[in-house]
Amino acid sequence: MADVHLNAFQNAQQQFDLAAEKLDLSSGMRRVLRVPQRELSVNFPVKMDNGDIQVFSGYRVQHNVSRGPAKGGIRFHPAVDLDEVRALAMWMTWKCALVNIPYGGAKGGVIVDPNSLSSPELERLTRRFATEISILVGAEKDIPAPDVGTNGQVMAWFMDTISMHRGYTVPAVITGKPVEVGGSLGRVEATGRGVSIVAREAARHLGIRLDQATVVVQGFGNVGSVTAELLHKMGCRVIAVSDVSGGYYNPKGLDIPAMSAYAKRNRSLAGYTAEGLEQVSNAELLELKCDILAPCALENQITEQNADRIRCKLLVEGANGPTTPSADDILYEKGIFVVPDILANAGGVTVSYFEWVQGLQEFFWTEEEINNKLERIMVHSFESVLDQALRHKVSMRMGGYMVAVARVAEATEIRGIYP
Ligand code: NAD
Repeated sequence: MADVHLNAFQNAQQQFDLAAEKLDLSSGMRRVLRVPQRELSVNFPVKMDNGDIQVFSGYRVQHNVSRGPAKGGIRFHPAVDLDEVRALAMWMTWKCALVNIPYGGAKGGVIVDPNSLSSPELERLTRRFATEISILVGAEKDIPAPDVGTNGQVMAWFMDTISMHRGYTVPAVITGKPVEVGGSLGRVEATGRGVSIVAREAARHLGIRLDQATVVVQGFGNVGSVTAELLHKMGCRVIAVSDVSGGYYNPKGLDIPAMSAYAKRNRSLAGYTAEGLEQVSNAELLELKCDILAPCALENQITEQNADRIRCKLLVEGANGPTTPSADDILYEKGIFVVPDILANAGGVTVSYFEWVQGLQEFFWTEEEINNKLERIMVHSFESVLDQALRHKVSMRMGGYMVAVARVAEATEIRGIYP
């Protein structure tokens, strides 16, 4: 299968088609699930600090809501486009179904480099985008969350904007909020915590001892830094991490707590130095020999161009869509065990679900309760995907898709086609 394109939506559709074939879905159901249900494109003005008016473009896409309200993050990144948002929305549908939480899938994005804006500009952009997509969002219908380039502060501005429109506070309209305004304990770490839990389970399955395992993590934002920290705490030797500024490699192991503190202070690893540290490019980093590789940045990092040179035993997809379908085939033939994105990074939406439930009932849980519930869901989901993969002699990605797509198809079938 050739990588004729690196279009994330075409890749997502190709992954769906393969699962639909395995599940023998009816052609009607395939037509329904292959495309998003709703897409909103907006172009909106923002007043910049120097008085200029700039127009930004953004999207909110709801892929499927058969199993519950739409759920999915908001990305602020210069490379956002409608097809990327469509892909991310479709992956959200499968992810929520896979961990069996009562949501459909959605995603949003704005074409912008948030680091190029001042904080007041970012706030005005967030509030205006929230207003533009407010016709779709709501605690009972579509609940956004953070993704690349957005964080708790952006979620707080979003929640405040919708609350100002309504005239009262609606904490459950968005998740990933700071705890001071109805966020959940454990949400900031949840995605990386989930990645580390499935990495641990997969390592156990493969007979890899964590205290002897080497780890490489691409991306050092919310997902990558927490993944690196938790695997480091589990006893792994994290030998390389990277962000947009490049890769940092030390075969003897990196001081992850120090790097994490540095990245938090400086919003990047740029300029970090330590004894024994070597600089590598992001491309070189992916090809380092290691036991566990966790891509936690963006889509299309492992393609048919480099898949053959990937030298890990276990690949855990913290990012959404880091591996193209043709690269997947190559990794499978090489015997690399891939924990797919819709399973590996589902910890984030799982704790977002906990946050939404807590917001609706206005009763909050302890961090221990959150982490225990997350642990149970991640371990159970890993086991059901592994079981599916072993029973059907397919990859973990196909196993995960089979579980998820079957659940969404079943819900769609039971509800019926309106009218
Ligand atoms: P983030 O903005 O916090 O961090 C992104 C990181 O990737 C940064 O360190 C950035 O420097 C780095 N990066 C950007 N471009 C890069 C490049 N070309 N090469 C290498 N590194 C690059 O974003 P995040 O929330 O950590 O999201 C990372 C991935 O995880 C995305 O694919 C996102 O969709 C996925 N994800 C996030 C969550 C969540 O809860 N935040 C949940 C599920 C999945």
